[in-house]
Amino acid sequence: SGSGAAAEAVSGAQLIAESLKAQNIEYMFGIVGIPVTEIAIAAQAVGIKYVGMRNEQAACYAASAVGYLTGRPGVCLVVSGPGFLHALGGMANATMNCWPLIVIGGSSDRNQETMGAFQEFPQVEAGRLYNKLSVRPSSLEVIPAVIEKAVRTSIYGRPGSCYIDIPGDFVNLQVNKRSVKYVECCLPPPISTAEHSAVAKAASIIAHSRQPLLIIGKGAAYSRAENNIRKLVDLCGLPFLPTPMAKGVVPDNHPNCVAAARSTALQHADVIVLLGARLNWILHFGLPPRFLHDVKIIQIDICAEELGNNVRPAAILLGDISAVTKQLLEEFSKRPLKYPSNSEWWKRLREKITNNEERSKGLALQKSLPMNYYTVFHHIRELIPKDCILVSEGANTMDIGRTMVPNYYPRQRLDAGTFGTMGVGLGFAIAAAMVAKDRTPEKRVICIEGDSAFGFSGMEVETICRYNLPILIIVVNNNGIYTGLDADAWKEMLKFGDPATCVPPVSLLPNSHYEEIMSAFGGKGYFVKTPEELQSALKASVTDKQTPSLINVMIDPQSERKKQEFPWLTRSNL
Ligand code: ADP
Ligand code: MG
Repeated sequence: SGSGAAAEAVSGAQLIAESLKAQNIEYMFGIVGIPVTEIAIAAQAVGIKYVGMRNEQAACYAASAVGYLTGRPGVCLVVSGPGFLHALGGMANATMNCWPLIVIGGSSDRNQETMGAFQEFPQVEAGRLYNKLSVRPSSLEVIPAVIEKAVRTSIYGRPGSCYIDIPGDFVNLQVNKRSVKYVECCLPPPISTAEHSAVAKAASIIAHSRQPLLIIGKGAAYSRAENNIRKLVDLCGLPFLPTPMAKGVVPDNHPNCVAAARSTALQHADVIVLLGARLNWILHFGLPPRFLHDVKIIQIDICAEELGNNVRPAAILLGDISAVTKQLLEEFSKRPLKYPSNSEWWKRLREKITNNEERSKGLALQKSLPMNYYTVFHHIRELIPKDCILVSEGANTMDIGRTMVPNYYPRQRLDAGTFGTMGVGLGFAIAAAMVAKDRTPEKRVICIEGDSAFGFSGMEVETICRYNLPILIIVVNNNGIYTGLDADAWKEMLKFGDPATCVPPVSLLPNSHYEEIMSAFGGKGYFVKTPEELQSALKASVTDKQTPSLINVMIDPQSERKKQEFPWLTRSNL
């Protein structure tokens, strides 16, 4: 018996790794420990790339970004209890963003359940709120089927996160291979199209519009609809507006992009074609005063439950964005539509664009020190490669950066997203760099962080250096959250007594040398205070394509965004 039986045996860890591989999973991020270490080792053995991170939250953000960038979920591997709990933020963020993700969590051994086992927690139950699926395989034999189901669920319909709970005693347990229920890779997600009558109705509404607008959301980016949407824009001459992460689906410098006239476009459009964007806070719920009260909204989405949220749409097109856009194109080839470029609507939008661009330019060219946001972004825009992958988070840093730094390619902007999550930046950058290394090695990842945002996952700089990922991090440092104090004001403030009672809650330590975190691990760090220093640090780090670097840019701690036209624009002007 002996040797023959042993050759047929397979461990839980091996089964998990082989099943993930069978589902074409390429990347795993996590932190090992009891009981999951063997799973990471087994994953590497089957050719899955494993990136060990410093906090499960960042690992989970990284895995979720892989799903958005590649359309195939990344895996986040965590230990039981606290490891699992740290990853919940990533699961919630992925599901909120409609990004596929697989989380594998070790849990306590089966024979210790409810006994107060090491790191015991009701993980499957806790996972339900954040995931499309939260399951624990009942035996080793069903692991391949459970993993196939999780991967399939994460990418079919509206994408989202799925959680698989692995009892600790499963990891090294062995079973005979013949008893395992092996399954093939799931089929690619089916591509659904909208009802013909709905497509015809939508085309007719668009054709009768006087002030049309396309809104492109990150669902369009996820569905890889860029070619068809580009054709629709060009064929029909329609103005378009990207949501933050949809920037680049059609390049920001396309003549029909009206991002710089966002408020005007939203406020006065009489017909809006919504391509993979929800009418949530990012789009002011589709309601007045940001929209006309009788605006006709043509909603295109893969998720039927989304249709009709907050407004009563004029037409609903349930289906894959790319496929439905193609249906619209076919409709317009039968009944051509060319929206006139000399219309009052276009004139109004163009005028607004020119005005807004002038205002930003004025601020960007200010010579006073410390620099303001606009000056910093002006130089960044001038010196970074056009095809770089941009990651950004922070309050003003993200909001102003979005308007100042263009995207020219789809799925090359990652930010705080639907959930407005801070702390995603470094994980996203690591994921983007891993994916770029395999697919588009010429593309650099540039991660523009507020100083507060950087702090959430700052230790991932060590991860970046360990895996030698040539990420450029730019910390736009205003000594605080929204605003901060300069060194003199800080000193004065401390005279009032215990810092815990007098340091403004928005303040962080002034003049923090965040760049030294990068040099501590062998990367290059730059501390810059002037436009000249900023330019030379940018040039050096863009030219050096091998070394991770961090440029810490000191700006005016009281620098704010330019005055907004409407009082309600102050927070969520996205
Ligand atoms: P944004 O933040 O850019 O406004 P949202 O995340 O709010 O975008 O919306 C994205 C929408 O795209 C979701 O409602 C989601 O259901 C939808 N979606 C995702 N993938 C597809 C697809 N392949 N086809 C159509 N819609 C999709
Ligand atoms: Mg700040």
